Amino acid sequence: MVSAEKVRALSELASYDMEQEEMLKHTLLGGTNGPLQTYEAKTPRGVCTLFKTLMTNKCKMDCRYCVNAQCSKRSAAWKYTPDELASTFMALYNKRIVQGLFLSSSIEDPIPSMESILESARLLRAKMRYRGYMHLKILPGSTRDQVERATRYADRVSINLETVSPSHLSEIASNKDFRSDILKRQSWIRHTQSRFKHSRETGSAPTRVSHVSQLIVGINGESDLDIFKLAASEYEHMKLNRMYYSAFKPIVDTPLEKSPAAPIWRQNRLYQLDWLYRIYNYSGDEVQPAFSDEGFLQNMDPKVAIARTTFERPLEINGAEERNLLRVPGIGPQTAKSLAKAREKITSMAALGKHGVVLGRALPFIRINGLRQTTLASFN
Ligand code: SF4
Repeated sequence: MVSAEKVRALSELASYDMEQEEMLKHTLLGGTNGPLQTYEAKTPRGVCTLFKTLMTNKCKMDCRYCVNAQCSKRSAAWKYTPDELASTFMALYNKRIVQGLFLSSSIEDPIPSMESILESARLLRAKMRYRGYMHLKILPGSTRDQVERATRYADRVSINLETVSPSHLSEIASNKDFRSDILKRQSWIRHTQSRFKHSRETGSAPTRVSHVSQLIVGINGESDLDIFKLAASEYEHMKLNRMYYSAFKPIVDTPLEKSPAAPIWRQNRLYQLDWLYRIYNYSGDEVQPAFSDEGFLQNMDPKVAIARTTFERPLEINGAEERNLLRVPGIGPQTAKSLAKAREKITSMAALGKHGVVLGRALPFIRINGLRQTTLASFN
């Protein structure tokens, strides 16, 4: 029988990993003397409530920001066996408390620790016939065979980059190697994710596993440009599906407990920039005006910051190409498509509103038939 204390502890200790778009929930469990943390998360299968947990919090690594590191001052250690993890998850799933699993682990020893994750996944998929959402963490130091097996079981796999370069990583985690522990494993994920087709053994999970990673923003002097360049390279070379950005928050009882927190707006502006690059297809060169000479973003929508320096004159809406329309603040992909396809000439701001243009944002950057409106009140 797994104790409720262990279930809660290993779930709470997994909460520092934010590789989903998540919202914390607390669910009261009968007889467990306290709430269990679960997460409402956007996943490739839609929004679902996740049981997010570590297999164990015993770790031999020394990541200076992490409460589970051997150098942190906390000592209580917990561990699931694969049987315990699988049966605990299925009990929560069958009671409809959760709909999916995000399984990670601290690293007692990389290969056995990864094996525990994989055995839990195997039990769930092959023995318990679980067909729902599963996100598995790839541990630094895991083998290529383990990475391949993880991609068979999971909807989503991830390995955290944490920071932007080998030297940055060695400052915050002296026994993790950026290239061999992380980039190498990402390249194995990239190779396996494109060719794997799920077999009968693993059930009806998606045919292509999603690959995500996380960067901690503001942990050791990296600039926003450093972060953006790495993310762009990951999208291009590692075929990453999503990069998650997490503003650094010092955790009590870790060596970095007195380091300053990064402002949350920095994280949010990086998400906006990521969106421009990934969804709006801005090139790396196009986003450069969003950065200061030192490589930092301002606390301003990067699309507006870029438009202010790149629009030499307001864009004539009629006849504009979809690509150029999309670069106007207040015009998203659907609106740009709709405007570019409009058969009738647009003659008023009101007509623009009907296409979905957010007039208050777009106003400084557009013209209609050569005329520019300067105030919302002058729209007809
Ligand atoms: S590997 Fe690093 S980040 Fe992960 S649990 Fe261990 S100390 Fe924490």
